[in-house]
Amino acid sequence: MAGIYVHIPFCASRCIYCDFFSTLRLEEAGARYVEAVIAEARLRREELRGEQVKTLYMGGGTPSQLPLSLFSRLVEGLREVFGLEMVEEFTVEANPDDVTREWCEGMVSLGVNRVSMGVQSFEDDILLHIGRRHTARQVVEALERLRSAGINNISIDLIFGLPGQTVDSWTESVKQALSLRPQHISAYGLTYEEGTRLWSQREHGKVVEVPEEQCLEMYRILVELLQGTGYEHYEISNFALPGYRSRHNSSYWNNTPYLGLGAAAHSYNGTVRRYNPADLNAYIDKLLSGQVAYQEEELTLWERYDERVMLGLRTSEGVDAVKLRQDFGDEAWHHFMKEAQPHIDAGNLVKKSDARYVLTRDGIMLSDTIIRDLMWDE
Ligand code: SF4
Repeated sequence: MAGIYVHIPFCASRCIYCDFFSTLRLEEAGARYVEAVIAEARLRREELRGEQVKTLYMGGGTPSQLPLSLFSRLVEGLREVFGLEMVEEFTVEANPDDVTREWCEGMVSLGVNRVSMGVQSFEDDILLHIGRRHTARQVVEALERLRSAGINNISIDLIFGLPGQTVDSWTESVKQALSLRPQHISAYGLTYEEGTRLWSQREHGKVVEVPEEQCLEMYRILVELLQGTGYEHYEISNFALPGYRSRHNSSYWNNTPYLGLGAAAHSYNGTVRRYNPADLNAYIDKLLSGQVAYQEEELTLWERYDERVMLGLRTSEGVDAVKLRQDFGDEAWHHFMKEAQPHIDAGNLVKKSDARYVLTRDGIMLSDTIIRDLMWDE
């Protein structure tokens, strides 16, 4: 099986915390961009080595900003190249304020069966401060529209540690999310990325960072509330009702090859990583003149070991020690076992009967440290 990711790098405005590659140039560049992505699909189809595409993911940026006519041209173009008959999960990222009845119906008619919405918070004053264009009420309305159009696999993204957020207000946001019963919830701790407006607000003393202990408490509450209401905690930042884990993202975590199309998109085939430029004009010009735009790097054995350990430990599947030894040899396996032991003794890591090593609930709270210890580099 194979997965395809398509990056749609257009937003209506920039959120103050975001460092993803996106631009405000949809009107001027959208149509050429779509043609460039289709051209890239044609040029790179062989990279899938004849594997059937099972998951398709349109991320961004804000894919829901693409006018329906362009979105439809893009999907039809990809369909001509890859077939897409075998796609089981077709996800589109959306902002709640774009989710109109027409948009939902358009998505359904193009085969979209999963929508991932950037909600971030249910506190309107915080949403306004961080530059989101929607309110909590619009989130509720968007979910209603998606469901009445027949899209019943909905994910929402939340962020904890936002400026102005308290443990109580976060708890309230999580409870509001739960009252909507989305099939999937992703929750990330806020990071201050250099170059963002949020970063400079902190530099100028205009925002105060939520202390780390409070962020940990927010995460602990999140895990407790979600697990207590039937969600499986299957990756550090991801929770799903039974049967609704993200198939596309799971393939990143278990090292399945994927093809990434579009500006700033990455691809991975098990040994080589390819990176498209995070530059709209450079990407469009290359592809429309019939050339690929990526640079590539071959991962060393130890880089691949690090990826395996890091991605594995983030999931509830953990790291399969038998497979680790088969794929990376005795030296890597000894390193893993030696570094794992103190964390096992401390109750932060546990060995399952089938030799998979999985973080415990306490271990998840210390995941960064444990993962660093088990990696080869450190
Ligand atoms: S809508 Fe998403 S991609 Fe665009 S600026 Fe906001 S967070 Fe970043």
